[in-house]
Formats: sequence, structure tokens, C-alpha cells
Amino acid sequence: MLSRRAKEVSPSATLQITASANRMVKEGKDVVAFGAGEPDFDTPSVIKDAGIAAIQSGFTKYTPTSGIPELKEAIVSKLKTENGLVYSPANIIVSCGAKHSIYNTIQVLMDEGDEALIPVPFWVSYPEMVKLAGGKPVLVATSLKKDFKVNPEILERHLTPKTKILILNSPSNPCGVVYRRDELRAIADFCVKHNIYCISDEIYEKIIFDGIEHVSIASFSDAMKKLTVTVNGFSKSYSMTGWRLGYLAAEPVIASAVSNLQDHSTSNPTSITQKAGVAAFSLGEEFFGDIRKKFQERRDYITSRLDKIKDKIGYKKPEGAFYIFCDISRTKMDSFTFAKRLLEEKLVALIPGAPFGCDDYVRISFATSMDKIKKGMDRIEEWLWERQ
Ligand SMILES: *Cc1c(COP(=O)(O)O)cnc(C)c1O
Repeated sequence: MLSRRAKEVSPSATLQITASANRMVKEGKDVVAFGAGEPDFDTPSVIKDAGIAAIQSGFTKYTPTSGIPELKEAIVSKLKTENGLVYSPANIIVSCGAKHSIYNTIQVLMDEGDEALIPVPFWVSYPEMVKLAGGKPVLVATSLKKDFKVNPEILERHLTPKTKILILNSPSNPCGVVYRRDELRAIADFCVKHNIYCISDEIYEKIIFDGIEHVSIASFSDAMKKLTVTVNGFSKSYSMTGWRLGYLAAEPVIASAVSNLQDHSTSNPTSITQKAGVAAFSLGEEFFGDIRKKFQERRDYITSRLDKIKDKIGYKKPEGAFYIFCDISRTKMDSFTFAKRLLEEKLVALIPGAPFGCDDYVRISFATSMDKIKKGMDRIEEWLWERQ
């Protein structure tokens, strides 16, 4: 009955654990949730107020499919000043979240049988999105020892005449890697040399630690800019996950293809959300400075706790985003078993690594309060000692 496309898509494998955790919370159990995929702070009030004002002034009708001019102008100016990318509004398509932007880009770039290079660990939706377009996800292995990073040499080994795109995510979910300027330049050279398109998912741009700079891969050359679709959004930077607002910047041919696709699928992103998005850009470096400080303190705390159980759990210190990807191979459990038992026996919910392409890892999210983090780390440590 179902289409081949629909049958090929995997359900979200992490949902089961999350559902169990939620059920336990409802039953009144004291679950520590390390599963969050969204910031734990409230959407800032200047953003909420702009959304409310939009409703009250009647800004509640269709807008242009690709976004209101005011928001596109604000995005153009952001990309220019913060990312060194010079675009015009015709290059910008606003969508219902960065996920939507990535989905649409893959739909307009990939034909049946085309291949997408996806570094492992990957954000769970990338391979599924590629499959939905009829494409083939080509998973590119990395290692904790090499900081979970790919380079041209590794990528070249997976190159075929069918290779069409590379999906990069820096800072990354789930492992928090942040590619440096020279590493990105080498990858840009690889893309230009082999004419590979790059989807650069920069959603965690603002959540970056130790003063490391975020670099947009499209900024290296005109040739690379032509091949790159830069994707960003409001969910993680401004804690606006439920508002559904993201955008992409690309060559006009790609941008208009995405716009056509949106014309016949979602139409415009929500009108009131777009107004809220315009207001978000009024928040400056001070706002992000506070967020980074808070997340960095939590990261430092968790890593200090993990250092005490080094013989049981390995990790690479994340440089961005709000997750720590932990190597659990020494526990001899696969990631689902680990997550399930930890939840049942110690009431700590985290996300198994298998859906991210790594069955001997689990993901701890630190988008939760320091108190919860302390409690959760105590329980994990206790549990690992008890299991000996
Ligand atoms: C959260 C997330 C997104 C999606 O963000 P939305 O704008 O809410 O759609 C995209 N990529 C990665 C890696 C994410 O973690």
C-alpha cells in the first residue's frame, strides 16, 4: 500500500526511550532528562512580544512563499556582517525550520541514485532525507581519536561519479565538533575540485566555546559559494524550536527551485513567526555571550565528572552545541541497552548513539539545569560502579 519512499524511511529510533522517560515522569518518578534536543531557556521576551504584536495587528495572512522582505533583508545583513557572505534577498529562502530548509535543498539537488556524503556521527535526519529524495546516503566514518572530523583524503575514498553533495554540520549534533578555518578551506577545495555541492548546517553557530570562531564554508571563494547552501535557523540560537523558522542562502537557481517546492507544499513559513524572527536579530553579542557562558560551565562540569570515570566512558570535549557524545564500548553494552537500563535502573534518560550512526556511543544533552546535571552524573557514576 505504501510507496517505496515511505517504506524506506526509518521511524525515529530515539522516540522509544523518550516515550518511556515521559511516561515515568507522568508516573511521578524523578527522572533526570539528558535527552533534550533544544535549549532549556525561554524564548526571549522581545521575540515573544513581536509575535504577539503581529497577531494583534492582524499580520495573520499568507506572506510571500520565500519570506517577508523585512526578514530576508535582516538575514542578508546578518550573513554579511557575521559570516562574510554577500547575498541579496533573491538568494534567501525562509522556511519552517532549518530542517525544512535542508529537506527542500536535498529535494531540489538530488536525483534518483545520486549520492550524498554524510560524516558519521550524523544528525539523525540527514540519511532519511536523502532516501526520501531517492538518493543514496554514503556514510563516511570518523573516529574519536581524530576528533570525529573528515578531511579531503577521507572524503575522496568515498567519491564516485554519482557523488552530488556533502552534508557538513559544524558545530555538530551529536558530537560538538567545530571545524577550524584551515580544515574547512581544505574541504572547500575538495568540493570545488570535484564539483560537489555542500549543505552547510550552521544551526549551532552561536553555541560555541573556548572563544573558537565559527567559519562559514561558503566564505572561502566564489566557486565554493556557488556550490554551498548555507542553512541556519532560530531554534537553537534563540530557543525558538516550536516557532518553526529557518532559512537558507544559495545560488539563485537553487533558491528559486526551493521556493517553487515550497509554493506547492508548505507555502510561506508562519507569518507571525517571521515577525518574531525579525525581532530576534535585535539581540546582540551580549545575549549570546551569556548563553555560551552558561553552556560552557555545564560542559566543563560534565567533562570533569566524566574524567573521573575515564576507564568506563570515553568522550571528546565538545567545542560547540550542547551535547557530549560518550564512548560506551568498554561497558560492553550496545547503545539501546545502555540507555534502556540506565533509565530503568537509575532514572536517567539519554539518547542512544545508534540513530546517529554509532552504536557504541550515547548522547548526553546539557540543555538542562546544573542541579539536574549534578544529580544525573551522580547516578551514572554510581550505576557504573555498581555494575562492576
Ligand atoms: C535542531 C537541529 C536542526 C533543526 O532545526 P530546526 O530549525 O528546528 O528545524 C538542524 N540541524 C541540526 C544538526 C539540529 O540539531
